[in-house]
Amino acid sequence: MLNLSNYLSIKNEVSSLSNKATIIAVSKNFPMVFIKTLINHGHNHFGENKVQEAKYKWTDFLKEKTNIKLHMIGKLQSNKVKDAFKIFDYIHTLDNQKIAQILSNLESNFDKKLKYFIQVNIAGEQQKTGIDPELAGDFIKYCRLDLGLNIIGLMCLPPINVNPIFYFNKLKTLAHENNLSELSMGMTNDYIEAVKNGSTYLRIGSGIFGSRSNQF
Ligand SMILES: *Cc1c(COP(=O)(O)O)cnc(C)c1O
Repeated sequence: MLNLSNYLSIKNEVSSLSNKATIIAVSKNFPMVFIKTLINHGHNHFGENKVQEAKYKWTDFLKEKTNIKLHMIGKLQSNKVKDAFKIFDYIHTLDNQKIAQILSNLESNFDKKLKYFIQVNIAGEQQKTGIDPELAGDFIKYCRLDLGLNIIGLMCLPPINVNPIFYFNKLKTLAHENNLSELSMGMTNDYIEAVKNGSTYLRIGSGIFGSRSNQF
């Protein structure tokens, strides 16, 4: 069973620093019994990184609990976009035209709209997904104007083992330049710096649920 004390102290800490930051409890790898403890406590934003797992865990549950908001924080593959579209409310990892086009078509066909973050490869790391910061402006315009997607902000995963503050600020500047108000940044290890530097959506997993090693 989930011990709520970590969640409660993170929540207090975050609300003492900002009144604009939403905590996304990243529940990947954890079964619904853990997640339900948080839901019963009134938490309603959850993050998953695999469409298959999210579908398996959440589909039935979402039929009853309509106030839950599910966030897709993992890489989207084109053959999974339709399933993702059906159960998620937010997608944090939009970074290419092909997937954006599929989503736009789904929105027209199913009369449902999602909220999107564009994922930016903020430090230009070769192994990472996300759009190049130089190309972000054009891609945002394309998604908004040509495809009619509701782009609400930018998301990044800063390089590991370096101070993330420079990258958080870089993302914030890029968002402001493109009239985007939301920032999806900050995880268990750096959510405090992220909130202090303007994050509005924190993606916190192990800090709330504990180590993911032997779960779901
Ligand atoms: C797993 C994951 C998180 C949460 O990571 P923790 O370190 O457990 O808080 C946040 N963002 C993304 C994209 C993830 O895949």
